Amino acid sequence: MMDRCLECNAMLKADETVCYTCGSARKPKDQKLSLIARSAGLIKILFIASGLLTVASLFFAATPSFITCLTTTIILLFVNRSADQMIEKHKH
Ligand SMILES: [Zn+2]
Repeated sequence: MMDRCLECNAMLKADETVCYTCGSARKPKDQKLSLIARSAGLIKILFIASGLLTVASLFFAATPSFITCLTTTIILLFVNRSADQMIEKHKH
């Protein structure tokens, strides 16, 4: 099975330690977990931003509608939670 580079998504041969395409070092085995952890951090930031936007939408007309913001916040909340669960599962 071929692995893919985390940075540029290029194919990596099993014996390659550095990506041939972009030159980034190949991550060790727990790369999947660190990728999830990185995404989880990003989702958390988006969730906070979305939450703030939801509050702002109640007061400012320039923001997207309250319902749109609220829906986005709720979706991000669920994504955030499942990402956390995934990380927990990998730890055990
Ligand atoms: Zn690469």
